[in-house]
Amino acid sequence: MKFTDLNPHGGIGANCTYCQIGPFRFALDSGLHPKHAGNDSVPRHDQIDPDGLDFILLTHCHLDHLGSLPLLSRKNPRAPVFLSYPSSILARRMLSNSLAVMKRQRSELNLPELPLYGRADLLALYDRMEIIPIEEPVVFEKNGQAIEITAYHAGHVAGAVSFELTHQGKSVFFTGDLLFNDLRTLDGAQLPRHPVDLLVMETTRGGAERPPGQQREGEITRLLEDIRKALSRGGSVLIPVFALGRMQEMLVVLDEARKNKVLPPTPVFCSGLGMDLVNHIHQISQNFNRVHFKRKVLRSLGAQPLPRRLQPGEPLPMRGIYLVSSGMLVENTPSYMLASSMLGDDRNGLFFVGYCDPSTPGGQLLETEHGEDFLFDAIDIRQKVRASLHRYDLSGHADRDELLAYAEAVSPRKIILHHGDPDARAWFLQKFKERNLPALDPEPLIEYDV
Ligand SMILES: [Zn+2]
Ligand SMILES: [Zn+2]
Repeated sequence: MKFTDLNPHGGIGANCTYCQIGPFRFALDSGLHPKHAGNDSVPRHDQIDPDGLDFILLTHCHLDHLGSLPLLSRKNPRAPVFLSYPSSILARRMLSNSLAVMKRQRSELNLPELPLYGRADLLALYDRMEIIPIEEPVVFEKNGQAIEITAYHAGHVAGAVSFELTHQGKSVFFTGDLLFNDLRTLDGAQLPRHPVDLLVMETTRGGAERPPGQQREGEITRLLEDIRKALSRGGSVLIPVFALGRMQEMLVVLDEARKNKVLPPTPVFCSGLGMDLVNHIHQISQNFNRVHFKRKVLRSLGAQPLPRRLQPGEPLPMRGIYLVSSGMLVENTPSYMLASSMLGDDRNGLFFVGYCDPSTPGGQLLETEHGEDFLFDAIDIRQKVRASLHRYDLSGHADRDELLAYAEAVSPRKIILHHGDPDARAWFLQKFKERNLPALDPEPLIEYDV
């Protein structure tokens, strides 16, 4: 197989992989880099000949995997886009939101290339989408040869799949983003355990050791206890979340806690896209038995849209639990604005339930000591850190030890490291070396023959 990582910045970001197996040329995912904007956030599609792809595979609908798919598909109009049924629903909502954000950024960031694609590109992409079943091979033929494509449940977020491709008796397995644990709203990954020839594996949590005994349920208990304390001292709580997946999971966690009287009745406020996705994930759960989510949770919790009179830096007009995106407090998102209002009051709590890149405002805030100043650069507001700040390990990605065990179980001829920061990849390289499993940490934009 020929393999090129088209994410120019390396690490995690504008995920896009270009591969050739026999006569078949295909790409896996095409994302946007969350920390860059405009042309700088796009993978290097120019490394693929125009109209050079036979097909495109989409693992799931987080924007770092999906965001530039309309561009890649526009350049490869004959290539079908294979994806799961939930992804076919979620992709539409995520992309139309992304288009709206880009239109706004055009003037905010003064980037004339925005939006990178238009409505017509989206409609054309939707026509090229082909839903593929789970654990049932689909055969794709070219020049008298056949390649078999099989999708497997990958957990992580509704509709996330891993792909196995088999050609002339050899197989390549792409994990995509992966979570083995069950969530409240989604069953964990169900991957094959038969041997594979090549394994392309995500490495997100290679740099994160899970302390012994620290389990997801324990982290949820700790979070609920901290929420209860903040509310009982008269404060509000901000939980920054990704709109897709994490927000719906947290709604269910809060609803359960309310029903079990672990939390007192309190208003819950949610931001727009996550509220909308509630409807989409409800619809998916009706037809897809691994997703467990009913939109009635909104009513049962009394969840409401954000109050109108929010002013950055000013005290909140209403006390409550604010479950809003972005998960990493990215500039000018609802969570960023709310944090500027809440940080300076010692009754409040800012509780992080997902990964924060160290270079994002969320990551920087977590590094700031209690009592120090924190600058909300984009809105020029400075606050002392008085609220309680905590982080909970509720990652949507598999632990490094689980990934290591999986790689050993399928005994590949070679492992290609993917979707991880340099320290995460370094940990895996070292472990695979100790186990005599050949592993490759590919440089971006270099073609490898493996
Ligand atoms: Zn993801
Ligand atoms: Zn990802």
